[in-house]
Amino acid sequence: MSSQANDLVAPWMSEDVVLLQNSVRRVLVNEFLPHRERWDEEGIVDRAAWLKAGEYGLLCPSLPEEFGGGGGNKAHDAMLAQEVERAGLGGGFGVGIGTHCMVAHYILAYATDEKRAEWLPRMASGELIGAVAMTEPGTGSDLQGICTKAEKVPGGYKVSGQKIFISNGQNADLIVTVCRTGEAGSKGLSLLVVEAGSAGFKKGRNLEKIGLPAQDTSELFFDEVFVPDCNLLGGVEGQGFGQLMTQLVWERMLCTLGAVVSMELAVQHTTEYVRARKVFGKTVMDFQNTQFKLAECATKARVARVFADQQMQQFLDGTLDNTHSAMAKWWTTDTQFQVLDECLQLHGGYGYMTEYPIARLWRDARVLRIWAGTNEIMKVIIARSL
Ligand SMILES: Cc1cc2nc3c(=O)[nH]c(=O)nc-3n(C[C@H](O)[C@H](O)[C@H](O)COP(=O)(O)OP(=O)(O)OC[C@H]3O[C@@H](n4cnc5c(N)ncnc54)[C@H](O)[C@@H]3O)c2cc1C
Repeated sequence: MSSQANDLVAPWMSEDVVLLQNSVRRVLVNEFLPHRERWDEEGIVDRAAWLKAGEYGLLCPSLPEEFGGGGGNKAHDAMLAQEVERAGLGGGFGVGIGTHCMVAHYILAYATDEKRAEWLPRMASGELIGAVAMTEPGTGSDLQGICTKAEKVPGGYKVSGQKIFISNGQNADLIVTVCRTGEAGSKGLSLLVVEAGSAGFKKGRNLEKIGLPAQDTSELFFDEVFVPDCNLLGGVEGQGFGQLMTQLVWERMLCTLGAVVSMELAVQHTTEYVRARKVFGKTVMDFQNTQFKLAECATKARVARVFADQQMQQFLDGTLDNTHSAMAKWWTTDTQFQVLDECLQLHGGYGYMTEYPIARLWRDARVLRIWAGTNEIMKVIIARSL
């Protein structure tokens, strides 16, 4: 493989992204990584860390400067996502800020000028935290089955229903909520921004998960919550499904990039481990089985890297379509799990101990095949285009 230093600079990164990458890496390791264990134990990234992330410009570098953002583009966001994963912070902190930044982009793209000016600077500073609430107990993959209802009343809507598995659910202040404002199916869906302090809105449990211990994932309850007209994204009912589909391409891109970095890390950690570990008088690396397995893993990571970088360039050029983003999401996250599992096996029992990086990578990777549209749904999307 080429040197790690070369691997860190992707073809889609401009000079300013590379410069920023170096300082981001330092900040993550010095200021945030030391808190990881505490966040894991507490099941949440604390508000002070969010405010600090805002101070360092880590909460959506692609937001325009007039809204307190970094004035960059999606290459800056992608670099940040990769560095967060490389620093070992992908699990809780990374998912949190990735989701938050997605919400900022929903608001930037679809909110009124007044709401953008009110919310975005406070999102960039970490004062307001965002979440996206699509999934319900009765429907996840089939978004057209969403039941949470927004009933029209003078001056706004009354929202009633329940959401589940919502990332940033405990911390969230602004929740982009998928609601039914009209007919059955996708045409009757709209996105309403629910403010966490509203009467009738309640956060449920912080759900216990297999992985991502520091990521707060919650149920949310809506009991006739009044949401003013100005919080309807896009200003016209029935646009929710289209808005979701547009923004979901980015969410899948984040899954793809995260999967690739995780594979690269796994190969790196495992190579170091098997070179040092002695069994039957030789290193684990001396077994041809180990060499072949690692050769396969390194190849899969490299193919995935090339695919992901190509996708990222297409995203920046505005040519990445739904079908190809679905291809990348399912393939890289399925391949990631194969690679991580092989790498864990090469660690023997140590691979099962959470103090070893491979254990964390393996545990936190599982969800990537499920969220942002399951990998089966990705194949449904691809098959439709054939
Ligand atoms: C940790 C975590 C964080 C999450 N964060 C968020 C969040 O922030 N916001 C949010 O809205 N949601 C979030 N989700 C929810 C996630 O997006 C859903 O779990 C996912 O979309 C799947 O929906 P479901 O769980 O209802 O599964 P189901 O839709 O019930 O699917 C069950 C199984 O059936 C398969 N299946 C379904 N339809 C088809 C089909 N047509 N063809 C073949 N197979 C099919 C699925 O692939 C899956 O294997 C999160 C989930 C997790 C685990």
